[in-house]
Amino acid sequence: MNTLYDIAIIGAGPGGTTTASYLARAGVRVLLVDKAKFPRDKTCGDALSPNALKVLGDLGLLGAVKDFGFRLNGVRLVAPDGNEMVASIPQKAGLVDYLYIAPRYRLDNLLLQHAIDSGAEFKPGFKVSDIQVERDKVAIVGKNRKVTSSFTARMGVIATGANISLLKKTGLMSHSPKFAVAARAYFENLTNLDNLMEIRFDGVPIPGYGWIFPTSATSANVGAGFLKKSRNLPITARRVFDTFLAHGPVQERLGNSKRMGTVKSYPLHMGFSAARTFSDRLIVVGEAAGLVNPFTGEGIDYAMESGQIAAQVLNHQLGRGDFSSRALHAYDKKLRARFQSIFVWSTHMRGLYMNNWLLNPLIRAAGKESFVRKSFIEILLGYCNAGKALSPHIIYHVLRNF
Ligand SMILES: Cc1cc2nc3c(=O)[nH]c(=O)nc-3n(C[C@H](O)[C@H](O)[C@H](O)COP(=O)(O)OP(=O)(O)OC[C@H]3O[C@@H](n4cnc5c(N)ncnc54)[C@H](O)[C@@H]3O)c2cc1C
Repeated sequence: MNTLYDIAIIGAGPGGTTTASYLARAGVRVLLVDKAKFPRDKTCGDALSPNALKVLGDLGLLGAVKDFGFRLNGVRLVAPDGNEMVASIPQKAGLVDYLYIAPRYRLDNLLLQHAIDSGAEFKPGFKVSDIQVERDKVAIVGKNRKVTSSFTARMGVIATGANISLLKKTGLMSHSPKFAVAARAYFENLTNLDNLMEIRFDGVPIPGYGWIFPTSATSANVGAGFLKKSRNLPITARRVFDTFLAHGPVQERLGNSKRMGTVKSYPLHMGFSAARTFSDRLIVVGEAAGLVNPFTGEGIDYAMESGQIAAQVLNHQLGRGDFSSRALHAYDKKLRARFQSIFVWSTHMRGLYMNNWLLNPLIRAAGKESFVRKSFIEILLGYCNAGKALSPHIIYHVLRNF
């Protein structure tokens, strides 16, 4: 007879595996499926913020991440006009004052192994094509090597990242949101890297940015992305990446380095503000819920934190046996309490500052004024409301630096 799982999670990225770990730790019967076989790559900048490191610490995985990740102590921002500013990571209670660049090939496998060790059952190579919500269970239908089969569970969690096909199929999404797109590759033999996360607004279309994130003293994850304002725009992530690499100052930074492997591109779904995150017997976790910062593109921490929140709510609802849409509204409420204002204000900040006209004086002001610099970095790290960037004090300094 078919096993009835408590929770079936679709997608074993940071969102799905974090949800699985916390639930399995609590003794819940969890099935985790992914279309990929692990370890698998995920196109990403690989940057872990202090908030992300906190979740990894809570899972007991910080030491393991430090074994293969590369520690960075600050941020370098390069304005469209080439002007630079450098800032260290500010102290914040309960958080570390550094970042890690941890390639996803290793990070996601670490998180997956942790979920399995915690008691979750994992089915790799299972591509889910449909979720049928019935009166007392959900059926997860998919294919493994062209053979269709299904699993049943009391509840389903959609954690499929930027792949929104199941959201459409289940009616959780009625129209496609706007996506950002980005491309990245790894480079070796760099000679002038430092322990800084380099974000560059030169050589890329705005709104967008390029990055050089060191993965060791001599290697880096290099990429570029931009917000596709219209779906019909002919520009591709690969073209933006190539233009970024051909930009003089970037060429100079990369010197005689050598690209390792292919250039990979992938979309980013940032539409959390208007996303539906629950329905009867279903909730949505991580990037599938649009949880990617509209200004910075950070999504790993948000995926893991939403996984923590999901596990907390689902565990509670399992105790009560209530998986109705009304009961699962509690998940959405907690998510909105944590993320909604970040998304609203980051979108406003992107609208105001993501143009050459204001980015140049903003970065110039941040280079000169410690208050502006600290505020800007705190906004990028999600330590304070992005609305701070619109405060009269900051606008005053920006205007002074035209
Ligand atoms: C180029 C680029 C750079 C980025 N840089 C950063 C960064 O530096 N730092 C940061 O924090 N964030 C970054 N992000 C965002 C970050 O990668 C994502 O937000 C994050 O991976 C979301 O985690 P997730 O678990 O929600 O989804 P994912 O990590 O995308 O995992 C989803 C999983 O679902 C599986 N799946 C999808 N559909 C199905 C299906 N139908 N059936 C079965 N399995 C399925 C996939 O195989 C995948 O394993 C970047 C994104 C891009 C594209």
